Parts: sequence; structure tokens; C-alpha cells
Amino acid sequence: MPYQPFDLSGRVVLITGGNGGIGLGMADGVAQAGADVCIWGTNRDKNAAALEHLQQYGTRVTAQVCDVSDEQGVHTAFAQALSDHGRVDGCFANAGIGGRGTAFDEMTREEWDTIIGVNQTGVFYTFRAAARHMKERARDGDAFGRLVGTASLAAISGQARGEHYAATKGGLVSMIKALAVEYARYGVTAHTILPGWIETDMTETTFSNPKFVENVSKRIPVRRWGVGDDFAGIAVYIMSTASSYHSAETFLIDGGYYAF
Ligand code: NDP
Repeated sequence: MPYQPFDLSGRVVLITGGNGGIGLGMADGVAQAGADVCIWGTNRDKNAAALEHLQQYGTRVTAQVCDVSDEQGVHTAFAQALSDHGRVDGCFANAGIGGRGTAFDEMTREEWDTIIGVNQTGVFYTFRAAARHMKERARDGDAFGRLVGTASLAAISGQARGEHYAATKGGLVSMIKALAVEYARYGVTAHTILPGWIETDMTETTFSNPKFVENVSKRIPVRRWGVGDDFAGIAVYIMSTASSYHSAETFLIDGGYYAF
């Protein structure tokens, strides 16, 4: 019999940016482990394709078009998730966008604001809605919650020509450590996941650059790029009761890249 705490039957997991890449890998893991899943993204077609894929596991899955940088949009989508599923046990704020590789001294205010709006303020809107719900549930005697953000190695090593991106991801780490402390009393744990180089839509252009591939691939000890599926197991562990005493963690999922 599989280790029981990893059976997520009855749990509901909300994953922003769950229609592709890393988010879909997480959604896939928790759905296979028995959880109901709600995914958010801005692209209706990607949502529909992800939904069809996730339905194979037989749990209840829903998708909503939601731009996380829109405060009212997040408010409405979260209320819809509660109406569809009755509860949200885990909230993975994974939606994010990359920069255009602009030199810092040429970066426009507009470019700065766009990245901050999705990667940081969007996470604030998402977690605020989830934290309110989890706190209310704890007060009703049903304490359990998981707040998880997808940051980046850029949070700890920075990103030249991506200072805005690095700032949002570093901000997530410190925001989430504070959430872990503030919400522990409500049965909520909070973690940040720092992916290394993962093959997704976001990195498509970067990975098509032979110079990048040549220079970076040999610096990854496990000798391959990461894929969405590499985030399934960590999502299941975090959602499970096996991780109840584990909070405020920064998980590096990078094939050993940072250590090397
Ligand atoms: P993808 O581009 O595949 O995924 C990004 C996801 O975010 C998509 O599902 C996208 O959906 C969604 N999204 C983007 N903007 C918004 C928005 N405004 N509102 C709601 N959803 C939005 O790339 P990844 O899977 O790689 O990225 C996932 C996370 O991982 C990001 O936060 C990224 O910064 C982080 N990351 C990725 C790394 C990598 O190497 N790939 C490395 C380090 C961190 P839609 O298109 O429908 O809007």
C-alpha cells in the first residue's frame, strides 16, 4: 500500500499558471495523488488543453481565465474556485513572466511595472485571498493550508538584464518566510520553490540559442534540463500531512546547478 499521507483525496489545490510548464507538472502530481485541482491562466486554449489532460486522473478539475495582476479578477476567480470546490487547501502561486533581456540602464518603467505586476503583486493578490480563506477555516475548526510560490534561482543569484525579474523572485522568498510565521497558528505552512533551468514555453527562446546550450548544459550536474514533471513530487509532498512540521523552506529543484 502506498505511504498514506501522500494520498491527497479530499484536498483541493489551486495552481496559478497551471496550464503549462512547471505549474502543469505540479497539477499533474497532485491530481494523480487524488487531489481536486483548479488551474488559472490567461490563455483559454491552454487552459482547455490542460484540463483535458488532468481529467484522466478522475478527480474534479476546473480551469479559469484569470490574470493574476488584476486585483478584482483574482478576487472573482478565487470566489469561483470556492464555489466550484467548496475549499482551497493549497495555493500554488506559480504564474510568472520573464523579462526581455533589456540592459538595466535602458529598462523602462513600463517593463519594470509589468514584471512586478504579475510576478509580485499578482502573488500578493493570490496569497491574500488564500490566506483569508485558510484563516477563516482554521477559526471554524478546520485548520490546514499550504501557500507555495514559484520563485527562481534568480532570487539568490540575481539575474543580469533581469533585475526586475530577480527582484520579484527574491521578494517572494522573504514574503513567504513571513507568511510561514504569521499563518502557522492556522495550520498553514508556506514554501518557495526555486527552479533551475526548466524546458517550458518561458525558456523556449533561451534554449534555442546554441551558445547558451553549450555553456549552461555542462554546468548542470544531472546533465539534463528540468521538465514540468520534476515538480510533481515536491507538490505532493508539500500538500501532504507528511510535511506538516516543515515550513518556510526554499526548495532548489535545479539538478544540482546552484551547488556546482
Ligand atoms: P510557462 O510560460 O510555461 O508558464 C507560465 C504560466 O504562467 C503559464 O501557465 C501562463 O499561462 C501563466 N501566466 C503568465 N502570466 C499570467 C498572468 N498574468 N495571470 C495568470 N497566469 C499567467 O513557464 P514556466 O512553467 O517555466 O514558469 C512557471 C514559473 O516558474 C514562473 O513563475 C517562472 O518565473 C518560474 N521559473 C521558471 C524557470 C524556467 O527555467 N522555466 C526557472 C525559474 C523560475 P497563460 O499563458 O495562459 O497566461
